[in-house]
Amino acid sequence: MADVILVLNAGSSSIKFSAFDMQSETLGLIMRGQIEGLLSAPRFVAFDGHGHQTGDKDWGAGHLEHEEAVAYIGEFLRSHREGNRVVAIGHRVVHGGQAFSQPVAATPAVLDELEKLIPLAPLHQPHNLKPIRVIAARDPDMPQVACFDTAFHATQPALASTFALPAALTEQGVRRYGFHGLSYEYIARTLPDVAPDAAKGRTVVAHLGNGASLCAMAAGRSVASTMGFTALDGLPMGTRSGNLDPGVILYLLDALKMDTRGVEDLLYRHSGLLGVSGISGDMRTLLASDDPRAAFAIDLYAYRIGRELGSLAAALQGLDALVFTAGIGEHSAEIRRRACEQARWCGVEIDSSANESGGPCISTASSKVAVWVIPTNEELMIARHTRDVAGIA
Ligand code: ADP
Repeated sequence: MADVILVLNAGSSSIKFSAFDMQSETLGLIMRGQIEGLLSAPRFVAFDGHGHQTGDKDWGAGHLEHEEAVAYIGEFLRSHREGNRVVAIGHRVVHGGQAFSQPVAATPAVLDELEKLIPLAPLHQPHNLKPIRVIAARDPDMPQVACFDTAFHATQPALASTFALPAALTEQGVRRYGFHGLSYEYIARTLPDVAPDAAKGRTVVAHLGNGASLCAMAAGRSVASTMGFTALDGLPMGTRSGNLDPGVILYLLDALKMDTRGVEDLLYRHSGLLGVSGISGDMRTLLASDDPRAAFAIDLYAYRIGRELGSLAAALQGLDALVFTAGIGEHSAEIRRRACEQARWCGVEIDSSANESGGPCISTASSKVAVWVIPTNEELMIARHTRDVAGIA
């Protein structure tokens, strides 16, 4: 029987999970997987720590409640290897608001506070919190820890986090929070070993996945980021617009008579790479396409990275290092090349063969900015926090 920390990342239609070995100091990954299609055609798949498939199950067309999905994952874990005993559960929670700038034990009082933040992240927060309630009801003694995507950015100065809106609104919490914080925190903790100069210097980390943002770090602390009040701001993403003149929203509401749900759907699900190309929000599909609309969407994506990078370099008053991470950042040499081309003006020069082979260092010896590719690991970051907060060792 092995003690494990279970990490859950629950969305509206999927629950991703990872299990980490408490016996190993470094929290080795022993299993990961997901149930996707919760609302339409639920399907479970699991892999061991070496990537070999260890389980799958298909429920056919239909609906699976979060409660049943969480119970299935728990049962699968218990019945595998020589039996795994879950000793604590860490949850990815997108929004910690102004109150939570650290991971926290998810007590009923904390959950009440976190539920108040649902309007700030309506598409993520309710689904992140649901499994915590479900598990607390079934097993009230199970230590559960909430880890926030916003927390890493709590170090940003007021100048970076304040919108030019009336101060009363700022006081109510209408301000920039920043997201992807668990990914940035993992990179910040990894940099001292991989790239000590980047860890000490002025570094921009580009988290380019389905969601995408950039974070400016000074000596490993967040000082600015492209995401703001919601995870809609900043770079264009798979299906999200990124930043927009707020006047566009007024136009959609007034002149085009769209309602707020329609605008939400447009900006979160039908914009970004998908909206611009009209083909797909998936970068691999666009890179493989010879349609000029795919090429334009990619050009716009790289151009916007260049623009936002310039803004963050200004916030840092210079740039010593640039780090690429997440699905596109880790795997697409072409997008890294294009993004770096946009940053040639500030002395970024990449070595194309190092870039093609994935780094980790992909800049030339003479580049003024060191460029790195570092795989992120948000789940491991959550597992570490969970072990610390739950006080188990
Ligand atoms: P999420 O934000 O959902 O965790 P990921 O970090 O896995 O997503 O990133 C998904 C994105 O990464 C998709 O656009 C996918 O096409 C892209 N991607 C993954 N591998 C490659 C690759 N080899 N080349 C280009 N894009 C890739």
